[in-house]
Amino acid sequence: MADAADDDLVDYDDDDVVDQTAADDKDAKKGHYVGIHASGFRDFILKPECLRAVVDCGFEHPSEVQHECIPQAVLGMDIICQAKSGMGKTAVFVLATLHQLEPVDGEVSVLVLCHTRELAFQIKNEYARFSKYLPSVKVDVFYGGVPISANKKALKEATPHIVVGTPGRLKALIGSKDLNLSKLKHFVMDECDRLLEALDMRRDIQEIFRTTPHQKQVMMFSATLAKEIRPVCKKFCQDPMEIYVDDDTKLTLHGLQQYYVKLQEAEKNRKLNDLLDALDFNQVVIFVSKVARATELDRLLTECNFPSVCIHSGMGQEERISRYKDFKDFKKRILVSTDLFGRGIDIERVNIVVNYDFPEVKEGNAPTVASDQYLHRVGRAGRFGTKGLAISFISSKEDADILAQVQSRFEVDVSELPDQIDISSYMNS
Ligand code: ADP
Repeated sequence: MADAADDDLVDYDDDDVVDQTAADDKDAKKGHYVGIHASGFRDFILKPECLRAVVDCGFEHPSEVQHECIPQAVLGMDIICQAKSGMGKTAVFVLATLHQLEPVDGEVSVLVLCHTRELAFQIKNEYARFSKYLPSVKVDVFYGGVPISANKKALKEATPHIVVGTPGRLKALIGSKDLNLSKLKHFVMDECDRLLEALDMRRDIQEIFRTTPHQKQVMMFSATLAKEIRPVCKKFCQDPMEIYVDDDTKLTLHGLQQYYVKLQEAEKNRKLNDLLDALDFNQVVIFVSKVARATELDRLLTECNFPSVCIHSGMGQEERISRYKDFKDFKKRILVSTDLFGRGIDIERVNIVVNYDFPEVKEGNAPTVASDQYLHRVGRAGRFGTKGLAISFISSKEDADILAQVQSRFEVDVSELPDQIDISSYMNS
């Protein structure tokens, strides 16, 4: 499969002449800035408008990934970056692109691709937050499931400088000549392994990529970047700075308490009810394997008077975003979801994740995809080093096998759920 996929890839080295002056320039800058050690956001050479927004967001100290990447990213270097879940990868590309942006009316300068509509929406909001003091900067978001005519109108009447979106809709807008990327300067892929894993999505991305200028900055991010996908990522880049976490154990979130419960399928609802009654939580995300199970479980929880809501791919897009907002705004405390919410989504108050259904090995996937998915899902709690709790229901031999893989790969201790858990171990004070 990997070979077939490789054949499909754009390989600029073969059929395009690299602009050597620009490449040399990049290297020179890289050399010059190597070794900078920034102790605070002020030490990054950012536009004052960006720095003010960082202060307003309450960011005091940059995380490790921000330390490592921002100084290079603001210089226009290509970047492939793997870093632990919840450690602020979004701010790296949002700040780096806003810092470099010189908005020209009618031209799209920045494109950010991601795999779900809710994540696109979230990233657009991050741009809104960080561009608060850059009033001339226009950001817009485009994804499927809503009428394309509204997107076309927006592109015509107020061409955004920054476009965030999902691959299918962006491809359609380029195909209809409503979205023009010929002046693009920055191409970002968030959750890049997920974007490039499935061949249909990868093809859409390649088609989009081909309509952009050769000389641009490419940045790619994920918490999981398997060795097999790295060469695919590199094909999109020119001499990138590469940050990989080769030691899987370093991906473990240490603020997170992780437990399992062995039970029969038929015992899951009862157990979940008991847990929700017994545990103290701010917000909870419950993962299930299928859309029908999400709807059913949400119905049951609502019947039992739990403030629950569900989101899945089977519902209308406006409804999806409105439910996402309700949860984000704390109007609902419990979210039942499929893997749609398994990656990237950042809800600050989520301190408990329940794997009602454990991640499964799906046909055609690498064996580590399910354990990667575990890592992403539990990472919805314990954002930015905060405390959290993850409880997984184990009801089959397959579940137990994947759990064993999770424990050995990430060297994480997932023990049997005790009768009592100290609240202070998972509630942030
Ligand atoms: P990732 O993409 O690495 O999973 P996010 O970019 O979603 O992580 O960031 C996780 C959370 O941490 C977000 O709520 C974000 O606002 C917050 N955050 C990011 N950087 C900082 C920082 N330097 N200080 C405080 N909070 C931060």
